[in-house]
Amino acid sequence: MEDKIREVLKTIQFPGYSRDIVSFGMVKGIRVRDGEVEIDLHINTKNQEAAEQVKREVEEKVSSLEGVSRVKVNLTTLSQKEPPKPKAHVSTKSSPFAGQQRIEGVKCVVAVGSGKGGVGKTTVAVNLALALAKKGYSVGIMDADVYGPNVPTMMGIEGAVPRVTEDNKIIPVEVGGIKVISIGFFVEKDQPVIWRGPLVSKLIEQFLRDVMWAPLDILIVDLPPGTGDVQLSLVQKVPVDGGIVVTTPQELALQDARKAAKMFEEVGVPVIGIIENMSYLVCPHCGARIDLFPHAGAKKAAQDMNTKYLGEIPFEPRAAEGSDSGKPVVLYYPDSPQTKAFLELADVVVRETNCIEPVQ
Ligand SMILES: [Zn+2]
Repeated sequence: MEDKIREVLKTIQFPGYSRDIVSFGMVKGIRVRDGEVEIDLHINTKNQEAAEQVKREVEEKVSSLEGVSRVKVNLTTLSQKEPPKPKAHVSTKSSPFAGQQRIEGVKCVVAVGSGKGGVGKTTVAVNLALALAKKGYSVGIMDADVYGPNVPTMMGIEGAVPRVTEDNKIIPVEVGGIKVISIGFFVEKDQPVIWRGPLVSKLIEQFLRDVMWAPLDILIVDLPPGTGDVQLSLVQKVPVDGGIVVTTPQELALQDARKAAKMFEEVGVPVIGIIENMSYLVCPHCGARIDLFPHAGAKKAAQDMNTKYLGEIPFEPRAAEGSDSGKPVVLYYPDSPQTKAFLELADVVVRETNCIEPVQ
């Protein structure tokens, strides 16, 4: 009977997502007794309407099963109980975030996302990580951009193969003092991988639990662009201490940034702020600032979203080239305006997430 119910639940999707509620880990329990079914549903969202819609669909579909006389759905969401800010190393098993569990030995998890591709999200994630390392923190990067894992290329470690221990723990690749894991290490380059929901969920789980991250002050997660399955999988599994949204000055990118910020908010991730990348061009000849687009958009988007504007990162041709060839600007151009911007961003992240002690 339980299997039958689970099969039915697998046909129900969370509105707006391509995955079913079972593979998202939203179904926390199924109990059957004399035809009476009780289902525990926990959905990490503040979107109460969507959650109620799921609940109704569960009730309808399960009660139409043969042999079911009554269905009770216990629904918990983020709206009913604000999450207590979990302390580092403390498991939150007994809270409504039942599925969420801190990574042992990792104090802080920060996600970097964007509404769309091509805004330099990975550049920001990589250089933020390097800036934090430069300040003395122990840092890791989890490249969760399953559709375009660029972290290895940008850090110059393409083709690296992480070692696996006898008890199947993955040892992250270390570069520039940073621990790195990426799906790029495990798939052939340019070989398209079709990431179906359950596979994404399993991969994220492995990257969180089977990689030897500890001890780590901060783990930066490079999310795929958009607001999809990876994002939701991540927040179902681990408390995320902050989200950074990367955008560019273009109008469309800003609209998407709003969506990305809203997604973080809905799933209970505190938005650290919006950062404007490729904000202006630094002239390679004289170092002057050249604006390519009208400004103030990101600032306004941040205001609209009631979140922080984290400033602007210039576009530097030599740095962009360096990024493609595995020479991140924070390591290779320490005096550049870009590096300065990333070091400032690192300070803001430490201050706003409040899960690691500032070093100075
Ligand atoms: Zn010039």
